[in-house]
Amino acid sequence: MQLDDHAEELASDLGVDKQEVKADLENLIEYSVPVDEAKQSLRRKYGDTQSGETPTVSSIDEIDPDDGTVNLTARVLTVGTREIHYDGETQVIREGTIADESGKIGYTAWDDFGFEAGDTVTVGNGSVREFRDKPEINIGDSSTVTIKDESLEVPYRVGGDRSLTELSVGDSGRVIEVVVEEVETRTISGRDGETTIKSGVIADETGRLPFTDWAARPEMTTGATLRLEDVYVREFRGVPEISLSKFTTVTELNKPIEPQSDRTRLTIQEAVKTGGVYDIEIVGNIVDIQDGSGLIERCPECNRIVQNGRCRTHGDVDGVDDLRVKAVIDDGTGAATVVLDEEQTAEIYGGGIDAARQTARDAMDQSVVREKIGEEIIGREYRVSGHLSVDEYGARIEATQFVEADGNVAQQAEELLTRVES
Ligand SMILES: [Zn+2]
Repeated sequence: MQLDDHAEELASDLGVDKQEVKADLENLIEYSVPVDEAKQSLRRKYGDTQSGETPTVSSIDEIDPDDGTVNLTARVLTVGTREIHYDGETQVIREGTIADESGKIGYTAWDDFGFEAGDTVTVGNGSVREFRDKPEINIGDSSTVTIKDESLEVPYRVGGDRSLTELSVGDSGRVIEVVVEEVETRTISGRDGETTIKSGVIADETGRLPFTDWAARPEMTTGATLRLEDVYVREFRGVPEISLSKFTTVTELNKPIEPQSDRTRLTIQEAVKTGGVYDIEIVGNIVDIQDGSGLIERCPECNRIVQNGRCRTHGDVDGVDDLRVKAVIDDGTGAATVVLDEEQTAEIYGGGIDAARQTARDAMDQSVVREKIGEEIIGREYRVSGHLSVDEYGARIEATQFVEADGNVAQQAEELLTRVES
């Protein structure tokens, strides 16, 4: 059935103008609303109000994903600018959050309506759709936005200013003040051929995050203190990363920013809840060592683990020896897999690849290396730093530091003593 036929059917069922229904239908489909859902929503719209008037919603908390279109007055909390590509076309969209006294809701504006964070606006004929299980407002061609003189008081933070630890994946239109700690310039092959980008690490008083500047701005140099307006947060290799797009404004700051020297210490439960976190510290007991630890072989082509001389992708290969540990750490709130590289493993093992190879040859069994590492670390408490990522297999931390915890031993002894004395 063609769009025209759907419009015909709706128009005759509802007794309204076909062109009007068709325009509404096209509008909804343009926002990726499935045809059946779009028709239902139009049946509600025209069925409820025969005059074709759009329903008016008084407050945001009343908006339901089944609402077709809404009118509302709200305060713009954040505005993020982004370029999206679909059907071979490039479009600049604005996205963020608007709020009233009753609640807040995400929006996507498909045109530049000229509003900024902090403005109070009346949105006419915004279409409601469900996005990630929540209603969201699409402000498109058939919508109107009026910027009001008076400003609506809302119980939410207005503007995108955040500290680094307050950011999470998916945020856009954020404003941060940071110092650039590390930066490197690279050339990548992208959609439009070769592009130069900058990437590295930025920090503020609360934490550190990796960044990518897709426009390789000259201001992004080591030691620079900067205000970055309109950045977004994407996930890269399981941890949040700040993206500077071509819409990001960079201003040099005349004030020092002193990053924390200590890493943020989180419980495993807290860390897992973030969905991925950069450069943190956890303290817990090693309770197990997983398969694929100790002396292992990697495929010379793809670096993946080789089992019985076979790579899953490249078949029979001459594996390259490596040392690695995948250990389970538990801090009482949750468990995570800690991954140690060759150097860290060699330190625990008390010898490098050659020594491990010799031990395995003498025992005629490669697993002795893993067992020895297990005896060394299982049951002990460690302080682990690194980047924690979360996927369907659970939480995983690539350790940048792995040291036995000492502070707690004294504290535990003291606690025990107190208990004995009392
Ligand atoms: Zn391979």
